[in-house]
Amino acid sequence: MKDCIFCKIIEGTIPTTKIYEDDRVLAFKDISPLAPIHYLFIPKKHTASLCDVSPSEMDTVKELYAAVMDVVRKEGLDKRGFRTVINTGEMGGQAVPHVHLHLLGGKQLSASFA
Ligand code: AMP
Ligand code: ZN
Repeated sequence: MKDCIFCKIIEGTIPTTKIYEDDRVLAFKDISPLAPIHYLFIPKKHTASLCDVSPSEMDTVKELYAAVMDVVRKEGLDKRGFRTVINTGEMGGQAVPHVHLHLLGGKQLSASFA
């Protein structure tokens, strides 16, 4: 979608460091990492938020998690733990309106979500 920064990353018009790619999902390094490992997993099909994923398209979420677990195992995060977060909407702290799943790890994360 025009004017979506994550769609531009998918198109290759905004540079990024790719971590994972298949025909449906792309993962790349967050530009402002909050942990030693901070990657974003996005569906290649533009969808603004989790609220816009219809019940018949919920496989999208499964595909994001399948990609996450592939990366988690390759990077050994399964041994020590990690966090996944999908910020959704204004009160959920979502800044970029293209569904994205944060993968954070590589340090002791705080128990706080606020
Ligand atoms: P959220 O607040 O959940 O919408 O998170 C958006 C995330 O996108 C933030 O963690 C940003 O640092 C990250 N971000 C924004 N622009 C870029 C970019 N061009 N490349 C990589 N990450 C980005
Ligand atoms: Zn988009």
